[in-house]
Amino acid sequence: MAACIFCKIIRGEIPSMKIFESEKTLAFLDIGPLAKGHSLIIPKFHGAKLHDVPDEHLAEIISVAKRIAVAQGVEDYNILQNNGRIAHQVVDHVHFHMIPKPNEKEGLG
Ligand code: 5GP
Ligand code: ZN
Repeated sequence: MAACIFCKIIRGEIPSMKIFESEKTLAFLDIGPLAKGHSLIIPKFHGAKLHDVPDEHLAEIISVAKRIAVAQGVEDYNILQNNGRIAHQVVDHVHFHMIPKPNEKEGLG
């Protein structure tokens, strides 16, 4: 979709810090992180809400989230996915937040 921010990121028209990319999936760091290492995992298919995206374009997402958790070495984290304004969705391209929750010793989160 031409005007979509995340489609522009997929096409490389807007810069991003990519941390994973495959044929159907892209993960990159969130520009406004809620915690160190906060990333977004998106299908390379434009759909505003989860039910707009065919299963084949979502199949890899959880696997990628697991790989990011292992790669980041985080034990505690949230996977969040918002649909619609009332549910706090701001960007209308399906995305899964991967939000590490650092332990208290690290002083964040
Ligand atoms: P939502 O509230 O829609 O679930 O979350 C949208 C997320 O996208 C927010 O955490 C916001 O910081 C992030 N975001 C919005 N625009 C950009 C951008 O241009 N680049 C990156 N990397 N993240 C963005
Ligand atoms: Zn899009």
